[in-house]
Amino acid sequence: MPVLAAPPRSVLDSLLNSGVTRRRFLEFCTATTAVLALPIKFAPQIAQALETAEKPTVIWLEFQDCAGNTESFLRARAPGVGDILLDVLDVEYHETIMAAAGDQAEAAKEAAIAKGGHIVIVEGSVPTAANGVYCTIGGKTAVQILAEATMGAAAVINTGTCSSYGGIPAASPNPTGATSVPDLVSGVPVINLPGCPVNVDNVVATIVHYLTFGALPAVDGHGRPLFAYGERIHDHCERRAHFDAGQFVEEWGDEAHRKGWCLYNMGCKGPSTFHNCPTQRWNGGTSWPIGAGHGCVGCSEPDFWDTMTPIYGRLPAPPGFGVTTSVDKIGAGIVGLTAAGFAAHGIAKTVQRKRAERANETPIEIETTAAPGEEGAER
Ligand code: SF4
Repeated sequence: MPVLAAPPRSVLDSLLNSGVTRRRFLEFCTATTAVLALPIKFAPQIAQALETAEKPTVIWLEFQDCAGNTESFLRARAPGVGDILLDVLDVEYHETIMAAAGDQAEAAKEAAIAKGGHIVIVEGSVPTAANGVYCTIGGKTAVQILAEATMGAAAVINTGTCSSYGGIPAASPNPTGATSVPDLVSGVPVINLPGCPVNVDNVVATIVHYLTFGALPAVDGHGRPLFAYGERIHDHCERRAHFDAGQFVEEWGDEAHRKGWCLYNMGCKGPSTFHNCPTQRWNGGTSWPIGAGHGCVGCSEPDFWDTMTPIYGRLPAPPGFGVTTSVDKIGAGIVGLTAAGFAAHGIAKTVQRKRAERANETPIEIETTAAPGEEGAER
């Protein structure tokens, strides 16, 4: 007697079967609407879409990575997006968390690929030097695995900076030839969710956007969704009032540090980094690096390891600025460079408005010093 395949379950069915109440489901839809920076009127549309959408099949690939994005994926607030995410998705292959191993695991992946229309989530960069020998799984190189997994896929979501831009493995001198996924994949919609690690809320929001609207969210010039990377960390930082007042931490543990003043002089890269860390935060929204007393390291920017270091060095003046300039002008200058690449001009307009508002304020004049290790460094 033939074995009938189980009918595909909708996202809502799956959630209700796993004990998530309808009230919690609607809260989830409302919260995700907020993460997507959509007006609240879209919450019912998202709820309606998830009620009928089939659970998407996911193949999660790990290459040259630290597994930090998987850690982030698993450590979401509970009960919350993490729990729901595991119910929203059919994760057919994930080397770190799947029960199957060896041939059984590879067979699961191949079966998912054969069906097509799946989502590929990638963590880690892809080594291309020496014919890809630096990362092989099941006898195949990462290059081969990526090519096979993305064939017939509906979308590729890069989690973390390594798969998005190469990350630390691609930092100079890049001995393994680490390459980003967008540089290797074509013919499939690709979106980047950089960060060390990715914020799982942004992963969920991206997938929910795809299920609701049938397309990936609008992106900036670096392939990042505008809802999560459209604004500077500096513009939503809780220490911004101290920056504006010229109140800066000068040494770790000094009085200013204990008071929660601005970390710019300690190397904070918030003025040149685009991410929703200040508003979305981490660990269930409890805190984030700057909230915990450490400056932003700029991890969601392309080539951050080569361009944002030394980590504790002050941001250098960008080309065109004099030796003495205002910190805000430095930030605005970098914003201008990034905003030029925006695919949607709405955010650029917001940046322009913010710059215009700032132009009416009296800037704080701060002498720019070279970063440690550079000529003229003070620290
Ligand atoms: S420089 Fe850093 S700590 Fe200071 S306000 Fe900007 S983002 Fe916040």
